[in-house]
Amino acid sequence: MRSCGWRHVQTSEACRAALRTVSGGVVTSSVNTQLVSDIEDLTLQMRRFTEARDWGRFHDPKSLTLALVGEVGELAELLQWLPHNGPAEAVQAEPLHSRLAEEMSDVLLYLLRLSDVVGVDLATAARQKLSSNELRFPVEGHKSVAPRKD
Ligand SMILES: [Mg+2]
Repeated sequence: MRSCGWRHVQTSEACRAALRTVSGGVVTSSVNTQLVSDIEDLTLQMRRFTEARDWGRFHDPKSLTLALVGEVGELAELLQWLPHNGPAEAVQAEPLHSRLAEEMSDVLLYLLRLSDVVGVDLATAARQKLSSNELRFPVEGHKSVAPRKD
C-alpha cells in the first residue's frame, strides 16, 4: 500500500479508506507511523530553514504564537465573506483553493516550529488530546449535536 501522508490522505481513496477503518479515533499503526514521520520531517525542515537564516533568535514562544495567530487570521480572511450556506463548493474553486492551501500550510509550519521550540511532541500530544475527546464526547449522546462549552 502506498504511504498515507497528508497529501495522500487528501487524494487517495485507499488512504481515506484506511482512516475510515480506524476504531474509536485511534489511528492504525501504519498510518500513525507515516503521520509521525511527516510531522518529524516537516519539523526538521522548518528547523533547518530557520537555522540557515539565523532566525532562531526571533522564534521565542510568544513571537511564534503571534505569528501563528496572524496566519490563522489570513486563513479566516479568505473565508470571512463567503455566504454561510455555500462555501463547500466555493473552497474547491481556484484561486481560493490554492490560497487556502498556502495559508493552512503557514499555520501548520508555525505550529510545528512552536512545538519544536517549546519541546512538545505534537503527534503524541494530539493523539492524547483526541483520545481525551473520545472520552469526553462519546458518540452516543453527542452524534449530530454541536459541542458546547460547559
Ligand atoms: Mg500567510
